[in-house]
Amino acid sequence: MWISSFLAILLQVSLSAQEPTQTSPTKRNYSEVKPPNIILLIGDGMGLSQMSSALFYGEQSPNYERFPVVGLSKTSSSSHKITDSAAGATAFSAGTKTYNGAIGMGADSTAVPTLLEDLAQQNWRTGLIATSSITHATPASFYAHVKLRKQEFEIAEQLLTAPVHFFAGGGIRYFSNRLDERNLLQEAEAYRLRIDTNALHPRKWNSKDRYGYLLAKGGMPRMLDGRGDFLTAATQMAFSYFDNFGQDPFFLMVEGSQVDWGGHANDGEYLTTEMLDFDQAIGAALDYAEKDGNTLVIVTADHECGGFALVSEEIDVPFQGSRRDYDSLRFSFTSGGHSATMVPVLAYGPGAEKFSGIYENTAIYAKIKAILAEH
Ligand code: MG
Ligand code: ZN
Repeated sequence: MWISSFLAILLQVSLSAQEPTQTSPTKRNYSEVKPPNIILLIGDGMGLSQMSSALFYGEQSPNYERFPVVGLSKTSSSSHKITDSAAGATAFSAGTKTYNGAIGMGADSTAVPTLLEDLAQQNWRTGLIATSSITHATPASFYAHVKLRKQEFEIAEQLLTAPVHFFAGGGIRYFSNRLDERNLLQEAEAYRLRIDTNALHPRKWNSKDRYGYLLAKGGMPRMLDGRGDFLTAATQMAFSYFDNFGQDPFFLMVEGSQVDWGGHANDGEYLTTEMLDFDQAIGAALDYAEKDGNTLVIVTADHECGGFALVSEEIDVPFQGSRRDYDSLRFSFTSGGHSATMVPVLAYGPGAEKFSGIYENTAIYAKIKAILAEH
């Protein structure tokens, strides 16, 4: 798509150069015709209360306050009023409403092409980062096509040949120690996929190679258990990878996977520490986009989780019963599962204004496509 607009501009420049009144040809630099890089940050299970927790439990203003455009996304799947993360992520990755459990599959259980796959075919660089296993529903929906999210061993096989150039997360157990005795970590070499299972060691990036970091057997550790700055560091490492091939636009998905798990566990401390960590990654993405000037950053969630709220404490007052103390906060959960509430969408960068309003989750895919069609 952008090649045609590039040609159109070339044509324009050469036409205007023929005009006698024009003293100097219009200057266009490459970045003006290059499509914007896309960074999609997904806070799994991140509703408005989850986001709000960062206002009260963080040490500084949340990075998400830096976004100029806000919208709301309606999250129901094709099969249920309340979505799961597989249908929720497939809505973003392929623009299709599908049934709960589906990974890169439409409602009729046939594979649907994903944005990541389409862009890779147009010579974009692609990356996926998650604090779950890299084969978990959210990241998997961008590169795999299976009927059920629990098919993580099959999803791992599909990652070997998927056009994902950079990834980081957990999930070693789906690559080695498999029931079928295949060792995908070894097989990966044949696909020029270099997987590091020790740490986020920087490398000398080779344009023909793909790079993976698998740093936990299953999901990455919780923040409460010492995960540290993995999510932000991996995000910055992805930028260093992409910058190495500066003329290629990139698509990067970064997931704060465990905001959701804190919700399922009805554990406010778990939830807020994951939320604050995700906000750090949001900050790194915005810092990059501000410097780059041609990067679209979108933050959203697949659904809310836990029916979470920040509510007031009830205080006993002697001889008077009790009263609500509106200056004290307590975590409250109304469910151990997801909820049907709308979730926020934040956007910054070229085309960001399109994300204002209230729309279906699938519209996020359509809006990205529409922005790219203009380039
Ligand atoms: Mg997820
Ligand atoms: Zn969940």
